Amino acid sequence: MKKAILEVENITARYGPVEVLHGVNLRVNEGEIVCLLGSNGAGKTTLLNCICGLHEDKQGSVRFRGEEIAHVPAELIVGRGMAHVPERRQIFSTLTVEDNLWLGASHRMPKTSRKEIAAEIEAVYQRFPILGERKWQLGGTLSGGQQQMLAIGRALLSRPQLLLLDEPSLGLAPLIAREILQIVQEIRAEWGTTVLLVEQNARAALAISDRAYVLNTGMMMLEGKAEEISKDPRVQSAYLGYSHTAG
Ligand code: ATP
Repeated sequence: MKKAILEVENITARYGPVEVLHGVNLRVNEGEIVCLLGSNGAGKTTLLNCICGLHEDKQGSVRFRGEEIAHVPAELIVGRGMAHVPERRQIFSTLTVEDNLWLGASHRMPKTSRKEIAAEIEAVYQRFPILGERKWQLGGTLSGGQQQMLAIGRALLSRPQLLLLDEPSLGLAPLIAREILQIVQEIRAEWGTTVLLVEQNARAALAISDRAYVLNTGMMMLEGKAEEISKDPRVQSAYLGYSHTAG
């Protein structure tokens, strides 16, 4: 069996009196791209927030690299090697591209020198040349796709072993959305980063993933190899736009 980097067991989460995740299990192995599919309100964002420490009202176990982190604060989880790019990116719109990137590495200083981090920022500019061209531009003036690249670049500067991406293609034109998902694949190839990806665009997500999970109203409905999940009639009709008629 492959080595797990993330093991989520029996997670239950609430908002006040309302339980929205009902005993969810999920596993991500080292080096994998795993996508988490599900319709609006299924609980995907809540599950990512439970994993990265942003959702506290939960029960169950989250193990990251073999250690229990269910009750470790989010800011400490980043330092252990997990980065989270939230839905709608949340970059600092009044800071420059360059300063946004420096912030991504802030918790690594002074242990890592400014010189080393500057070299890593250069590597991000090489990966995303458009960010290099616009390094003095304010984050808020970038296009949606460029902001997504900045959010991913910033997350990479925390040197993550596991990258959690919440709907990276949300609100982007189809071509740009495809480019962003291709970049996710390249990041895994170049940096060896393991990825857990939440996506509404099921077809594109399945195309770049090794395995997939399907969450349905707070319960895991399906899991398996991405190729098999994409052939499942329930997934095809609910998420891939195929219609199945009997007979
Ligand atoms: P989407 O694809 O629309 O972002 P999702 O699968 O990510 O959906 P969540 O955002 O995790 O789903 O929401 C799961 C459930 O929790 C939904 O019923 C939602 O209405 C509810 N919920 C989410 N955030 C809150 C909140 N802050 N307070 C109360 N209920 C919430």
